[in-house]
Amino acid sequence: MVSHVPTRTEESAASAGILPILSHWIDGRPVEVLPEQTGPIYNPATGQVIARVPRGGAPEVDRAVIAATAAFPKWRDTPLIARSQVFFAFRDLMWKHRTEMAELITRDHGKTFPDAFAEVTRGIETVEFACGLPVHLAGMMTPNVATDVDAFTLRGPLGVAAAITPFNFPAMVPLWIYPIAIACGNTFVLKPSSHTPGASQLQADLWKEAGLPDGVFNIVYGGREAVTAIVEHPGIAAIQFVGSTAVGRYVYEEGTRRGKRVGAYTSAKNAMIVLPDADMELTADAAVAAGYGSAGERCMAQTLVIAVGDAADRLRPLMLERIANLKVGPGMEQGVDMGPIYTKEHRASVVKWIDRGEAEGAELVVDGRPFVHPTNPDGFFLGVTLFDNVTPDMDIYQEEIFGPVLGIVHAETYDAALGLINGHKYANGTAIFTTDGGAARRFKLEVDVPMIGVNVPIPVPAGYLSFGGSKESALGDLAMRGEDGIRFFTQQKMVTERWPEPGRRATLSLVFPGNS
Ligand code: NAD
Repeated sequence: MVSHVPTRTEESAASAGILPILSHWIDGRPVEVLPEQTGPIYNPATGQVIARVPRGGAPEVDRAVIAATAAFPKWRDTPLIARSQVFFAFRDLMWKHRTEMAELITRDHGKTFPDAFAEVTRGIETVEFACGLPVHLAGMMTPNVATDVDAFTLRGPLGVAAAITPFNFPAMVPLWIYPIAIACGNTFVLKPSSHTPGASQLQADLWKEAGLPDGVFNIVYGGREAVTAIVEHPGIAAIQFVGSTAVGRYVYEEGTRRGKRVGAYTSAKNAMIVLPDADMELTADAAVAAGYGSAGERCMAQTLVIAVGDAADRLRPLMLERIANLKVGPGMEQGVDMGPIYTKEHRASVVKWIDRGEAEGAELVVDGRPFVHPTNPDGFFLGVTLFDNVTPDMDIYQEEIFGPVLGIVHAETYDAALGLINGHKYANGTAIFTTDGGAARRFKLEVDVPMIGVNVPIPVPAGYLSFGGSKESALGDLAMRGEDGIRFFTQQKMVTERWPEPGRRATLSLVFPGNS
């Protein structure tokens, strides 16, 4: 196997002052770059630079699009079973390398190893869905719609597609997008987050080993310049973006203005309703896990707990018991519940949000700011924070913080709680905690948020279903993955075909063709 992901030995080299340099992946091989064209990758648990990642721009994107364009016709025409076999091989390699991939994620991102391992497994689910591509690409045929005429639909690829992905799920989010695009016969350019590049580098190696033809899957690293080059490149037909709403809006507006198909899946502020009849032990587990897992750096984290009636009186002490037992530390350490924040800058931003919440008058019940890890003082660690009495006029209620900060909101009735959720500008995930099936049923029908949990705090749909929010949490008409993913990455064609019976010939007529 070609390996260009820094190994542990290389990490030791990094600590000795020789930093490994990652490379773009274009046309089935790594593209070397000069050290001055790279930026640092940090291990957030130590605060140390462990490798360097290329800062690509228009020339690299162009090179990747040229390779993808050249590979497209042959890949489009590759029989579906042959395509599917590459996917089965890739799925098996992913399974074999899932520990290695999870270690790379923990190293780059900071999340705990079990959390990273679970992420990889959820990403593989979508690869398994893509293995069934011959079924997903089936069209519909209706014989005899008129005399000697049959009608059918077929789904064809768009050409070269691209994805721009965030730091927080370095394996899972790209795996939710590009395998579906490639399964549909497109070729691809991936622009992952430069903060967490290791997982995608390993995937490139595994595709090569699985037998994917060169040029079908390409990776370009970089930030704003690479993204602009993707958005503006005339050779790219479709883009899926996952990240913040501000950048997503730019990609969506500029991409669609240029005639591209664009889907952008963006920021969130998810709230869970707790009814007074809820199982409070289960709900406290759920709130603490959903709010602080992966240091709150999940777009499906529930960061607002809307307690109805007297629910908070019983829930808050149970949450505090659990918070007191949480262990914050390096993600590779056994027994650690929460790792560091992914960068020093983002840590500072989360601290500012806590300052803001305090200034806005929310009750600061647990303050994560003073936390310093005893043996890793330079790591980007932060303790968990709990606010109570958060109200809708506060910025910490309205805006995404993307850190380990949970807020309890009080609502007198279910209707008031529902009104809060439906009135929020973001709509990604939500949940209700109750033992009343009728209340849960009503919630599912009334709530204006697409991904819903009932006694499930992070309702990420299973890998064969679609994933996506609405309002400020998504731009575009189709969700990611699942049936929508297939529709997004294909063009449906409607064919009307005449094969006259021998000896039968229609007479000339200028009348609009009818179906008789
Ligand atoms: P981000 O918007 O900063 O970055 C996303 C991508 O855009 C990265 O590849 C990055 O390199 C690029 N980028 C960043 N700044 C840019 C700029 N100014 N111009 C052009 N490109 C730029 O997001 P992030 O911090 O990596 O990820 C966190 C965000 O992603 C959160 O808002 C989170 O809610 C969101 N997210 C959403 C989903 C979802 O499905 N809705 C899933 C995961 C994360």
